[in-house]
Amino acid sequence: MKSYFFISVLIVFILVLTGSAKAVPTAPDAPSAPSSPSSPDKPFALPKDAEKISEDTFKLKPSKDPSTGETVEAFAFVHKKSHFKEVPARVQRPAKISGSTCYGYFASGAKWKSVEPWVVNPANNSGISDGAVFNTFVNAISKWEDATDGVVGNGAGVNVLGDGSATSAVLLADTVSPDNVNEAYFGAIDDPDTIAVTIVWGIFSGPTFQRRLVEWDQIYNSVYDWSSSGESNKMDLGNIVIHEKGHSFGMNDLYTSFCSEQTMYGYATTGETKKTTLEAGDINGINKLY
Ligand SMILES: [Zn+2]
Repeated sequence: MKSYFFISVLIVFILVLTGSAKAVPTAPDAPSAPSSPSSPDKPFALPKDAEKISEDTFKLKPSKDPSTGETVEAFAFVHKKSHFKEVPARVQRPAKISGSTCYGYFASGAKWKSVEPWVVNPANNSGISDGAVFNTFVNAISKWEDATDGVVGNGAGVNVLGDGSATSAVLLADTVSPDNVNEAYFGAIDDPDTIAVTIVWGIFSGPTFQRRLVEWDQIYNSVYDWSSSGESNKMDLGNIVIHEKGHSFGMNDLYTSFCSEQTMYGYATTGETKKTTLEAGDINGINKLY
């Protein structure tokens, strides 16, 4: 009788152990079961020790690149929605003719020196088809690459970000260390004013010629209703993706109203589509970098 009791206690103990083992979250980026949207249950948040270095740019703690063992740094670019009260009442100057000096890099000389593939989980709550999401990314990358030779529309340019693919795997933007996957997905972000976050890992210090980018990850806030056709009350996906891709190439945010017409201007709002074309500063900047 006593041994039956002991065995049943043992079984219960094993069951509890197994149950708690299952509760441990799967490793980031493990190709686990598809879900929609692709993010984990917890809203995305930057690590508490992320250091604010400018308007909406944060420096993450350095880490090691698992593929090379090198020490790598990371910036997180938080793309905020502009509120009407933040937009100056005066009409901005005709910035389209002003802009060729409107560009910047987050680490001078840091760019891609190898071509890596990228992946997007297109699952979203806004009814945009997987194909439309994927094409939005391809088009945004093409526009930047086309501009690397300083001329837009000639179809010539440098292949910088490589080929992409769509996945239904759960993706996770890497804030602690890179995982050698360049990934983008829709997911909840802790701050509802944040439209998207791009994290770029790379070697940003030391001699300029040794600097390079090693990874980019992007999360698009599923709090927003997204549009693929510039609908006035929604966030236009093409308008935001091309800006975020600019960070993937090495471009920095611009916050002066003088540069407000550039794709790399740091604010956006619903219904906006003007960033889908690169302007003089964007083109000049990407040309000088590549
Ligand atoms: Zn930005």
